[in-house]
Amino acid sequence: MNVPADSLSDLVVERVGFGIFVLDREMNVLMWNRFMQDHSGLLPEQVVGKSIFAHFPELPRVWLSRKIESVFQLGSFAFSSWEQRPYLFKFDHDRPITGGVDFMQQDCTFMPLTRDREVVAVCVTISDVTHVSIVQREREEAVAKLQEFADRDGLTGIANRRFFETRLRDEYTRWQRYGGDMSVLLFDLDHFKKINDQFGHGVGDTVLRVMAQRVAEVVRAQDTFGRFGGEEFALLLPCTPLEDAMRVAEKIRLTISETPVEVQGTSVPVTASVGGATARVGVPAYDVLINEADAALYSAKRQGRNRSVAFI
Ligand code: GH3
Ligand code: MG
Ligand code: MG
Repeated sequence: MNVPADSLSDLVVERVGFGIFVLDREMNVLMWNRFMQDHSGLLPEQVVGKSIFAHFPELPRVWLSRKIESVFQLGSFAFSSWEQRPYLFKFDHDRPITGGVDFMQQDCTFMPLTRDREVVAVCVTISDVTHVSIVQREREEAVAKLQEFADRDGLTGIANRRFFETRLRDEYTRWQRYGGDMSVLLFDLDHFKKINDQFGHGVGDTVLRVMAQRVAEVVRAQDTFGRFGGEEFALLLPCTPLEDAMRVAEKIRLTISETPVEVQGTSVPVTASVGGATARVGVPAYDVLINEADAALYSAKRQGRNRSVAFI
């Protein structure tokens, strides 16, 4: 069989699964392949010989003209990925409407066509990367979700200890540099073992969840509320002196003790003890602050529970 090479390349250009078209320096179309025809609904005879903007006024005129001109001037390839510019042409994609992708996502290359070392035209290729972009977007969303779960406690949905300590460390570093105030409160539910023993572990879990929700609703948005251990919670209060922190401690203690938790038709009374500490000159590290709050909490327990005590 003897097929001339140029007609073979014509066949390839027509059949290939991406868009190919050629522009001259005035942005007139010199060639328009089948992919471009199928996706735009415009035949080569409608497009060739006219400015690309005649049929596609929505194209980014300034950007595209600059891109083409730079290829003419430099004689080198240029590229544009969907991540920089999701699409050049508003072509439909063949995917179900998912992932918020409105049009076919496109990677474009701009290839100089040279004759006697002079660029005579620019060949543009358009690849359909809709699938890649959807997968990538889904991956990014999944990573963001995982990141969020990594910071949260599984039972209560509030910050976990790791996240709380990261926030505390950052806030402590900020305090060391800029001064001001910052305080920490530690809460421990009173006689929680009895609640588990009397009502069962499931009820105990519900009590923890309800308590965490109730307290989360009364703390300020700039504060970080976290689960520190089993039935122990911590609250980081940036820009808050000890006196104000202890007022917050009382508010939370009352929030916990005033209303028993209703679980499966039974009313479970809950109280908590609170210890508070504040950053001062001479407190060398954030974990010392935690130890001080813990010591104050221990003191609250010894004094009879259901109370708040400040470390001084
Ligand atoms: P105190 O007033 O001295 O704090 O008494 P307490 O019984 O609360 O203290 P202790 O630290 O001795 O016991 C805490 C109990 O909390 C023990 C454990 O069974 C329970 N606990 C810890 N984590 C969970 C949890 O995730 N779910 C449930 N239901 N119980 C938990
Ligand atoms: Mg306890
Ligand atoms: Mg405890």
